Amino acid sequence: IVIRAGDYGFRVPQLQLSQRALLFADLFSGVPRSRTADTYHGYPLITLNDPPVDVEVFLLALFDAKFAYNLPSLPLSDPRSYRIYAGILKMSHRYRALYWRRKALYCLSPMYPTTLSRYDELNHPAHYNAYNARTARLASRVVVDAALAVGARWLVPAARLVLISASASNVSGGSQLRPHADEVKMWHEYKLWWIDLVWRMYCPVPAMARCASSDICRVALLDHREEAFDRRTFELRAILTKVPPVHRVLCDTCAPSYLRRHQLLRRHFWDSL
Ligand SMILES: [Zn+2]
Repeated sequence: IVIRAGDYGFRVPQLQLSQRALLFADLFSGVPRSRTADTYHGYPLITLNDPPVDVEVFLLALFDAKFAYNLPSLPLSDPRSYRIYAGILKMSHRYRALYWRRKALYCLSPMYPTTLSRYDELNHPAHYNAYNARTARLASRVVVDAALAVGARWLVPAARLVLISASASNVSGGSQLRPHADEVKMWHEYKLWWIDLVWRMYCPVPAMARCASSDICRVALLDHREEAFDRRTFELRAILTKVPPVHRVLCDTCAPSYLRRHQLLRRHFWDSL
């Protein structure tokens, strides 16, 4: 059969297509021969409304063994890699190619950790690899859209994080890229959020009632809060770090209690992204 998308046509074997993307099987079995009247050079013709570029990468994944083999190792420094993954993700979701849906999500996972603990692993100094902020930003918009389209909500937090940090440098003029309107909005929301979370991060903890040196611990927290608000860096790290520096100056009674609350705060932040 021939699949048409926009001005492009792709000739693919019908049987394998139905086997690899289940929706096509329904499509072919439900349509009586007479209704597939559209033909192209004698082949039955199916028109899809998806972007041709998505259709192309999807069909390449399904039918080109070399393309499929190289797919997981596309360079993550190139925005095109993410477009390809996102395209395959959307198409495989829509046409029920379950293997490829899983595979596309798997390919995206090194850049977009899906859990907070995986995020910690990736940001550990031992594994940290600085990625190109421009690539990340270009890619993350596509990835957020694709993840929302296929209901893969667990990809969204990490992609949003990238957009937030990319917007930070854009809005403050650190880059030539003009920020997208909803990135500016996201950035303003984030700043309010940051202020709220940082405020709560340095509130006294209940354990301070039992603290022998409560003044020292209390003052340490308030000093750190003041410093954070003076500098207003809006750093993600302030919230997402596993063990904030202030933890070290707290006494043995206050420190564990402080750390427990911090874990709740950063979990709350991650879940709200
Ligand atoms: Zn204390």
